[in-house]
Parts: sequence; C-alpha cells; structure tokens
Amino acid sequence: MSDIYIVISLITAGSILGSFSNMLIYRLPRDEDIVFKRSHCPDCAHILGFWQLIPILSYVYQMGKCVYCKKRISLRYLLVEVGTIGIFLITWVMFGLTPYAFQMGVMLWALHILAWTDIETGLLPNTLTYPLLGLNVIMALYFQRLPDAVYGAVVGYLIFWIIGVIGKWVYKKEAMGGGDMKLSAAIGAAFGVKLILLSTYISFMIGGGMALGFIVCKRKNIADTLPLGPAIILAAVISLFWGQKIFGWYFGP
Ligand SMILES: [Zn+2]
Repeated sequence: MSDIYIVISLITAGSILGSFSNMLIYRLPRDEDIVFKRSHCPDCAHILGFWQLIPILSYVYQMGKCVYCKKRISLRYLLVEVGTIGIFLITWVMFGLTPYAFQMGVMLWALHILAWTDIETGLLPNTLTYPLLGLNVIMALYFQRLPDAVYGAVVGYLIFWIIGVIGKWVYKKEAMGGGDMKLSAAIGAAFGVKLILLSTYISFMIGGGMALGFIVCKRKNIADTLPLGPAIILAAVISLFWGQKIFGWYFGP
C-alpha cells in the first residue's frame, strides 16, 4: 500500500476513534452507557445531529460552541481528536504496520484516554485498565514472552501497592488509588520487568516534580493524593520511545 493511502487511512481512523475517545472520557468515569445513548451537549443535553458528530471539522465549523445553547465546548474535544490522529501516525512511523505496532497503538490510545479521565475526574476506569492488561498478556503469548510480561505486571502492581501500604501507614489514610496499581500492571505486561522498573522510576520523578509544583503554587497539601495516573502514563510513553536509549546512557550500549 502506498504511504499516502496509509496516512489518509490513519487520519480517518484516528479522527473517528478520537471522537469515540471523547465519549469514553466523558462516560466511562460516570458509568454511562456507551452504546445506546445518543451523544448530547453536556450543558443543554440537546441531542447532537449528524453534522455535529463529524470529528474536528464540526468543532472548527461551530467555532467551539454548542449550536443549541452557545456554551463553549471544552477544547479537550479537539485536543483528543488531534491527539488520537497523532498517536496513530507516530505509531506507524516508529513501528510500521506490524503486530507490535498494533499493540503499541492500542496501548497509547488507551493511555491517552486514561490520562484525560484521571485529569478530569481522578479516576482510571477498570473498563479500560483490565482490557489493556488482557491485550498485553495475549500479545505476550503471541510474541512468546509470557513469563516476562507476567513478572512485569506483578512488579508494576506491587511497587505501587507497597507505596500505598506505606502511605496509608504514614498518613493514616488511603494514599494510593487502586487504579494506579492496575494501570501500572497493564503497562508492566507490555514492558516486562526491566522496562517497567525504568518507567516506574521516571514516573516517580515526574510525580515528585508535579507534587513540588503543586506545593509551590499552593494548589495542594502535601498529604493530599496526587493524580499519579498522568505521571505513570507520561513515564510509560518516555520509556516506550526512549527506554533503550536511557538504558544505554546508564549501562553503556
Ligand atoms: Zn448545548
């Protein structure tokens, strides 16, 4: 297939799945039906017509406002659609059209959605983390590296579980969300032990930086729970693309 057709297909699929992602980001944390409920404006609840469902173009055409109530539509809708297209194109450029590219594309797509649900609601829905874990285990079977995937998932889960136990002991309240552990397990299944250790280490640095930022800006108390999800996800993306390079810096090629 010629590259231009691949690019057009990826942009089309990315914009449609990006639009679907927006619905998931809104509905999954709220336990709303994702199949039978028609899309509606979150402000005036007006059911959206066909033209308002077209990704990206409808946002631009409506100039970011609901045509019925004129309330601003969150910029997130546009960012998620463009972001999903970006994920598909980058995955293709980096990994080609391979089974591994399929796995990483789906994983990055899920992580993108999870980053937004965590930022907006503080939740990492099981309806996303469990299927992601399942996919990564199945792909590990396919690539004949199941033991490393299982150890990776267990290590990813346990690190955050241990921190949760210590945090509970220090702060006398729940410090670590169960969603963080499940997310880390799902990523660990794709990464294996070595890469999930690096990824977790990077997520602590990012999380620590975020915590400092919040304290400096007086946005949060140090004892408040941080939304660690985005830090874990950002660290996973860095490890996926630059993990081998980072290992090279530390341990030589
Ligand atoms: Zn409206």
